[in-house]
Amino acid sequence: MANIWYIQVNRYCNNNCHFCSNPSNEKDISYERWIELINEFILKKYEWVIFTGGEPTLSKDLPKWIEYAKSKSINSRVISNWSITSDFDFAKKLKDAWLKLIHFSIYSHIEKIHDFLTWNPGSYQNVIKSIQNMTKLWVEVQINTVINHYNEDHLDKIVMFLNKQFPNIYHFVWNNLDPLMMQQTKIALTTLPNFDAFEISLKKAMDFLTSKRKTFRAERVPLCFMRWYEFVSTETRKIVKNEERLVYFLDSREVINDKWLDFIHDKKPECTECDLNPICGWVYESEKFYSYVKVKPQKLSKTEKESIINIINSN
Ligand code: SF4
Repeated sequence: MANIWYIQVNRYCNNNCHFCSNPSNEKDISYERWIELINEFILKKYEWVIFTGGEPTLSKDLPKWIEYAKSKSINSRVISNWSITSDFDFAKKLKDAWLKLIHFSIYSHIEKIHDFLTWNPGSYQNVIKSIQNMTKLWVEVQINTVINHYNEDHLDKIVMFLNKQFPNIYHFVWNNLDPLMMQQTKIALTTLPNFDAFEISLKKAMDFLTSKRKTFRAERVPLCFMRWYEFVSTETRKIVKNEERLVYFLDSREVINDKWLDFIHDKKPECTECDLNPICGWVYESEKFYSYVKVKPQKLSKTEKESIINIINSN
C-alpha cells in the first residue's frame, strides 16, 4: 500500500494498555468533521482509509462511515483491540457495511501477559473470539503487536501460535513501543523493551513467517536490530518510496502529514559510520527514552545495498 490516511474516530477504549500512545481524552469525531476529512481524502485520490482510535468499534457510526467510504470507492480498514467484534452480530454488521480488512492488536499468546498489558482481564479471550468471527465472515485479518519488555523474548512464539490457530492470517505488523505519549507510570516505564532481546525473537519470527510465505512489517526498529529484513522496515520503505502518511488526531495535533523526512528519528553518533545510514529511520525517541540502546553500525557491499532498494521498489 502506498499513501495512507488514518482517522482517529474516537479517543476512548475498553482496554487500558500501559503503553497506549493515544490515551483516552473521551473525544469523538463529529459527523461533519468526518465528512470534511473524507472529501479531502477523495480529492487526494487515496484508496484506503484506516479507522483508528481509541477503539473505533465503540463508535456507533462506524458501519455508516464504512458504507459511505465504500459509496465513494474507498476501501476501509479498522484497527481494533477486539471490542465488540467478539459479538458475532456486530462483526457481521461491519462485514455487511463492506469492511475489507481489520487489524487486531495482540501482544502475546500467553493470556496473562496480554491481559496484564491491556490492563483488562478477559481481553485475550475477546480478541481471539473476534479473530474467529472475522475469519468466519471472510473479512481479512491482520495482526499488530507492540514490541515491549513483556513479549521481547517470544515474538516468534506468538506468530507460530497464531499461524497454527488461524492459518488464513497472512500479514503481521510489529510496532516497537512508542513511549512519547504514553502515561509515565512506573508500570508503563517497565514495558520499554530490551532491543538486544527482541532482536533474537523478532528474527526467528520473521524467518518463520518467511518460511510460511507470509508478509510482515516492522516500525520503529532500527535496521541494525533487524538485519536481513531491512526491506520490511516501515521507515526504510517510506524513505525509499518517498511515501507519506496522513493522520487525523483527536487532540491538539489535529492533522499531521508525515512525509518521509518525518520517519527519520534520532541519529546516534555511531550511525555516521554505518552503511545503512541513508535508508535507516535511526532510533525513535533516543534522547528521552531509548538512550540505553547501543546501535551496531553495519558494513554492506554496494550489491547488498542495491538489493535492499530493489526489493522495496518491487513490492
Ligand atoms: S547503526 Fe544507526 S544507521 Fe546503522 S542501522 Fe543502526 S541505527 Fe541505523
